Amino acid sequence: MHAPNQEQTYFCYHCLDSMDGWRIQWCVGFGVDLVPPRDNRLSVSPCGRRKVHAAHTFAERCACYGQNPEVQRRKDAIERSRK
Ligand SMILES: [Zn+2]
Ligand SMILES: [Zn+2]
Repeated sequence: MHAPNQEQTYFCYHCLDSMDGWRIQWCVGFGVDLVPPRDNRLSVSPCGRRKVHAAHTFAERCACYGQNPEVQRRKDAIERSRK
């Protein structure tokens, strides 16, 4: 049985097991009115740019990159399906 609204579980909740290991972050802007993320799954992190700019998303290599067993499992499955 598969519950339709069952919460998906992730090995890594930062990148949601992104295959390429990037996690999307939300910068609330710098020197302007701070804008909260449109998507509440986005983690909020300053991008580090010190000049005035509006809120934006940016990608950062996730800490799990290269070590995420869920990503590895999916890559292996793709690899197998190619053969
Ligand atoms: Zn991750
Ligand atoms: Zn920024």
